[in-house]
Amino acid sequence: MIVVLLGPPGSGKGTQAKRLSSERHWPQLSTGDMLRTAISKGTQVGLEAKALMDKGSLVPDSVVVRLIAERTEDADCKAGFVLDGFPRNAAQAEALDLMLSRMNRKVDRAVLFEISDQELVIRLSGRRTCIKCGAMFHLDHAQPKNPGICDACGSALIQRDDDHPDVIKKRLEVYHQQTEPVVGFYARQEKLKTVDARRKSSEVSAELHKALS
Ligand code: AMP
Repeated sequence: MIVVLLGPPGSGKGTQAKRLSSERHWPQLSTGDMLRTAISKGTQVGLEAKALMDKGSLVPDSVVVRLIAERTEDADCKAGFVLDGFPRNAAQAEALDLMLSRMNRKVDRAVLFEISDQELVIRLSGRRTCIKCGAMFHLDHAQPKNPGICDACGSALIQRDDDHPDVIKKRLEVYHQQTEPVVGFYARQEKLKTVDARRKSSEVSAELHKALS
């Protein structure tokens, strides 16, 4: 099954994609994670992406479409995969459909994580991310056992450059202008389901499984 998780930054897509991935053995394809890996490795793609990501803008479609096209050819994607953070605009959604149709495949379901901007600002500004494994914590409601240290792998927790308030505002603007049309794209294809992303992670997970059944 090929699943697209849609929703604003901070709506919990990444957390649920990881969970779904380990439960169903579908790899999580996160363009944000792929770009952050490229940045940490200092590749050309990473160098180009960093400045755009730091200010909350989108990286060019050609870059992310290529990352996804290469990754979907890997053997572990055969049974299915979860897309997290891609497609992020109508052009990427169309490119994805075209790429999949050439492989005789298609998106089976798109799930929208619904939550208000106000809630997201609180969530994102308190978010802390593991520098190594990407696990996420929150200063208020998901504190690590030891401050500043990842429970999962023991590495340092940081505040992502793009989780600072001015960049959060920009990322939400980009979401409303560019990513929201993707919701309509999948609604027209009758593939769209929604989950209430304000709820507890375990409840969102249960809703997500229902949406995929
Ligand atoms: P994320 O971790 O999904 O919130 O992504 C972090 C940043 O990476 C975004 O604000 C964009 O700058 C960039 N990015 C991630 N995915 C995409 C995409 N599909 N298209 C363009 N830029 C992306």
